[in-house]
Amino acid sequence: MFVKVFSLIVAGVLGLVSSSPILTLPGDSLPQYDCIVVGGGPAGLTAASALGRVRRSALLIDSADYRNGPTQEVHDVITRDGTPPAVFRYLAREQISVYKSVSMMNGTVEAIVPEENNTYFTIKLSGGTQYESKKVILATGLNDLLPSTPGLATGWGKGIYWCPWCDGWEHKDMPFATLCAFSEGCVKDSMTQVTLNKSPLMLTNGTYDDAHIARVEEALPDYKERLKVNNITVDDRVLCKISRVHGNDSDYEDDFVVTFTDNSTLVLDAMRGLFPAQLKSDLPGKLGMNLTKPVDSGDPSGASVIVVKSDMQSSIPGIFAVGDTNSDGSTNVPHAMWSAKRAVVFMQTALAMQYTDALIDEEIDSDHLKRSASGKESLMSMKRSLELPVPRYDATSNELMDYLME
Ligand SMILES: Cc1cc2nc3c(=O)[nH]c(=O)nc-3n(C[C@H](O)[C@H](O)[C@H](O)COP(=O)(O)OP(=O)(O)OC[C@H]3O[C@@H](n4cnc5c(N)ncnc54)[C@H](O)[C@@H]3O)c2cc1C
Repeated sequence: MFVKVFSLIVAGVLGLVSSSPILTLPGDSLPQYDCIVVGGGPAGLTAASALGRVRRSALLIDSADYRNGPTQEVHDVITRDGTPPAVFRYLAREQISVYKSVSMMNGTVEAIVPEENNTYFTIKLSGGTQYESKKVILATGLNDLLPSTPGLATGWGKGIYWCPWCDGWEHKDMPFATLCAFSEGCVKDSMTQVTLNKSPLMLTNGTYDDAHIARVEEALPDYKERLKVNNITVDDRVLCKISRVHGNDSDYEDDFVVTFTDNSTLVLDAMRGLFPAQLKSDLPGKLGMNLTKPVDSGDPSGASVIVVKSDMQSSIPGIFAVGDTNSDGSTNVPHAMWSAKRAVVFMQTALAMQYTDALIDEEIDSDHLKRSASGKESLMSMKRSLELPVPRYDATSNELMDYLME
């Protein structure tokens, strides 16, 4: 069992274990997909699965820097509660590998160029490789901006956790503090913590000052009463360092000593960090996408994220944004999966419409198709769009061309 789990983790950590050959059509200048998915966390993987299930040709490109990379286990994902993130991704990739129209690869997308009125896109990777795709899904996630306090980064995801649903249960009823700048979000968040930890502490690190208090009073005039009835206390000592004195990266038995600048100390079993975040990728900025900060989303990170419509499409038609990057304001694995599935459901219809438009525009005659050179291209495109089985392309044979021209 241990060997199996260990090898799963190694495979997951090393990157994408299942990479089907890329669909390259002989004669095509660039391989063209129905959809390219950028990012291979829970959102991107769900999109790839959904595309594969309806036999869309898709390529997932992932630079493998996952937001939940530091944490020990994924929680509150039904049937997968307690699964290490690397195992979660490995299992996803294993399941997706059944769907041969989907390929996966490691890589970093550097540019996405809309072509011909967004009817397709050129995707440029850092190594110079390029692909074409009719649609694009950005599942590129967020980066947490951790303060530089010594010891904080090493404890992140391992005793110093990100959300109550993430590791709150594992640290219930333990001596606990929320690390945050004094703010409305921090007050509200500490109130939500009391079902897990009685009398939680807010460690506000020197931010409980007039300016911060005035802003909180404006938004929550009765904040003091709210803190009082919930037994929440504010400790404004300035942090100097955090040391883990017991426990390790693979259990929930941590003890931390927090040292303050006045040399006083505090022993805690767990902490929650409310820190800002930002888009992991610069692609939305390069594309000039509309961004927004979700208002009162429940996510305290305050990141500017990609504005999406109800179909998960961004302000750039044909490019969808799913998971943590989008403006739903809910950053967790179930949301990542939900938003990705929703994007593909809408995309499937959009692709069908695009394909039908092309058929109508070209007034395709199947006899003519088989004869003419441009017809050959249309036929290949049509067969892919019609979701006929896309065989694995083997560079040493012409089986794909043979199949398409049958
Ligand atoms: C410490 C911690 C613990 C958490 N625990 C839980 C939990 O227990 N349960 C839960 O539901 N949620 C948890 N979350 C939240 C959860 O991890 C995120 O909501 C989820 O990972 C979002 O998935 P995603 O696919 O949108 O992004 P990510 O998982 O971050 O994946 C984004 C991927 O896109 C890639 N990428 C970015 N730019 C490019 C590019 N240009 N080219 C190619 N690839 C690119 C990145 O490298 C990365 O691999 C936790 C978060 C943190 C910080």
